[in-house]
Amino acid sequence: MTKRDYYEVLGVSRDASEAEIKRAYRKLARKYHPDANPDDPEAERKFKEVHEAYEVLKDPEKRRIYDQYGHAGLGGGTAGQGAGFEGFGDFGIDIEDIFDSFFGGGMRQRRSGPRRGADLQYELVVDFEEAAFGAEKEIEIARVEDCPTCGGSGARPGTAPVTCPVCGGTGEERTARATPLGQFVTVQTCRRCAGRGTIIESPCPECMGRGKVRRRRKVEIKIPAGVDTGARLRIRGAGEPGDYGGPPGDLHVVITVRPHPLFKRRGDDVLYEAEVGMAQAALGTTIEVPTLEGKAELKIPEGTQSGATFRLRGKGIPHLRGYGRGDQYVKVKVVTPTNLTEEERRLLEKLAELRGEAVEGKKGFFRRMRDAFGG
Ligand SMILES: [Zn+2]
Ligand SMILES: [Zn+2]
Repeated sequence: MTKRDYYEVLGVSRDASEAEIKRAYRKLARKYHPDANPDDPEAERKFKEVHEAYEVLKDPEKRRIYDQYGHAGLGGGTAGQGAGFEGFGDFGIDIEDIFDSFFGGGMRQRRSGPRRGADLQYELVVDFEEAAFGAEKEIEIARVEDCPTCGGSGARPGTAPVTCPVCGGTGEERTARATPLGQFVTVQTCRRCAGRGTIIESPCPECMGRGKVRRRRKVEIKIPAGVDTGARLRIRGAGEPGDYGGPPGDLHVVITVRPHPLFKRRGDDVLYEAEVGMAQAALGTTIEVPTLEGKAELKIPEGTQSGATFRLRGKGIPHLRGYGRGDQYVKVKVVTPTNLTEEERRLLEKLAELRGEAVEGKKGFFRRMRDAFGG
């Protein structure tokens, strides 16, 4: 199959300006567009032909090669095959390009456009009190930063990155594949430049051309009062730097609260267990209990049972959002006396007798042993 001359296809002269070529393409593309010509193979063929001609003539470099060598210079009669010039194998339909030409879209966004930097995560263990009342911490994170020697370009100082010869700076490689249904164009990130559109000929000695180096950085973290395990703090912009002018990522600090030797936490309330003597529980007393901020007095009324819980209002953890704070709950554990002296034993036996409670008393096992052996 003989290919028609591209200028002929678009109906323009060989010295047509870029604007003339574009105008002619738009007119013909509209005329033969598949949407305007449903189920018309001839229109579809023309549409592809017009598009292919435009793809070459709109590009000064491809046009120059075409003018000099004709179709052969661009890789022969069949699209995508035996391309003599690397990267010029693209003659299929590219929807984005059609959109651009119809709607006057500007530059297509390159894959190497601004990219936001990566987010980082840091697990921070804080003390119970720090979580309760807030704290300022300095943490050290390892993050990737722009290389200070080359300013992030990756090129040896005094040199600069050059346009990638494979993709011509677009960052994309296109492969056209002929199938019975037509030609399909696969667009993939350029393997030579990894989508950057530029390559480094003389790499920076510090970063070996990567443009990035790993650095340890200290970051100040302000822990708000009331955080609990699992809380996430976001420090905007403290992540890794963006690429190609993109904004930096964020640093996420995930909080773990260290257990307290005395207190447990339930929401914003603090739980504490206090031991009181049997007589204290029975007769009532006032005990001193520790709180997050010093000691507090707690009245134990007479007749308090083991397991009874009392509240110290407002002695808990400040609410993370809003005002006020939780309470402290004191659970009383009544301690049964052990290692009784003779006198204590006598008093308790007397008490048991008065209350009609049966006890082992003098008939206790050890006492019987002692009696038996005359101890
Ligand atoms: Zn460098
Ligand atoms: Zn490239």
